[in-house]
Amino acid sequence: MPAPPPGEERPPERLDAFMARANAQYYATHPLLSDFITAPEISQVFGELLGAWAAMVWSSMGCPPRIILAEAGPGRGTLMADMLRLITSRVPAFAQVLTVHLVETSPLMQEAQAAALAPFLARFPNLSPVWHTTLESLPDGPLILVANEFLDALPIRQFLHTPEGWQEHYVQDGAFCLVPCPPPSLPDGRTLDPDYVVELCEPALDVARLLGRRFARTPGAALIVDYGHNSGLTGDSLQALRHARPAKPLEAAGEADLTAHVDFTAFAAAALHAGAEVWGTVTQGTFLRALGLMERTEQLAAQASPQDAATLRSAAHRLAAPEKMGHLFRVMALTSPSLPAPPGFDERTG
Ligand code: SAH
Repeated sequence: MPAPPPGEERPPERLDAFMARANAQYYATHPLLSDFITAPEISQVFGELLGAWAAMVWSSMGCPPRIILAEAGPGRGTLMADMLRLITSRVPAFAQVLTVHLVETSPLMQEAQAAALAPFLARFPNLSPVWHTTLESLPDGPLILVANEFLDALPIRQFLHTPEGWQEHYVQDGAFCLVPCPPPSLPDGRTLDPDYVVELCEPALDVARLLGRRFARTPGAALIVDYGHNSGLTGDSLQALRHARPAKPLEAAGEADLTAHVDFTAFAAAALHAGAEVWGTVTQGTFLRALGLMERTEQLAAQASPQDAATLRSAAHRLAAPEKMGHLFRVMALTSPSLPAPPGFDERTG
């Protein structure tokens, strides 16, 4: 980001405004995965299982004759391409009634997504994607939405309970400063240590409320996969990755990927209150195994060279093993209240 002119001090900027600005610049200028790798990029099976999940949910809705398949934050388009490969080859009746909508703010990513989905368009012109910069502009109608590592990129606010009262993190000249603020709303009955950081991701709660309201009136389901917590409070989780290494979040804004853990408890409460049914979370490992991660991996491995088979098995292990991504990443589903438990879930949250 350009430095302010000499002699001029930049005024303090609230953390969420800083994070939004820094990430918009980061995603507009950095090819994805130069600094981190995501589940769909680790194994094609991840997207195939989510494609099968979407097809089963469509069927549980009574196979509506038109349905929107949407993805929020689709990155390089790999997840949607893997979902569509599975859907077009195994469930063509579903492929024929789909329209594809991608919620993506970065023009660089939109280009990558267009290239990833181009191969499907000759046989299924209806899969030509429509881009949005916000979920609000998705058209009405039955919807199935997936989002992998989308919510963690949305800007957060941080509050501290100091001896002088509640204060909020602002950013000035690459460092935090504190600004007095009213008390944030907290999960009931919590007492906090001094200097404990409370995080709030308002755009994530807006997503939960939007989907909740929508699913209350129109059939729909959303699958959210991300790293995060279920406890409501876990302290400071803001982190930065630059050149694939942890970096200081406030330094080199726009050059690092800034993320925070998703507060699934707050997300679920907002969605439930707005009218959705909420399922999970379950861990990513449990979810992917329930959907057939190991079986599909072995099926592919049986047709692959020994070297490719080993790569496929180690990718499945990386996605599901508790000490790898299997426990840190969690999966939550939101559905219309009239729908049955979606595949991979058997417990309602609310
Ligand atoms: N889902 C992908 C990429 C995750 S990275 C994967 O699993 O590989 C986060 C993605 O969300 C990027 O595509 C980024 O450009 C996009 N993004 C970040 N903030 C966004 C916002 N506010 N609205 C829409 N997309 C956003």
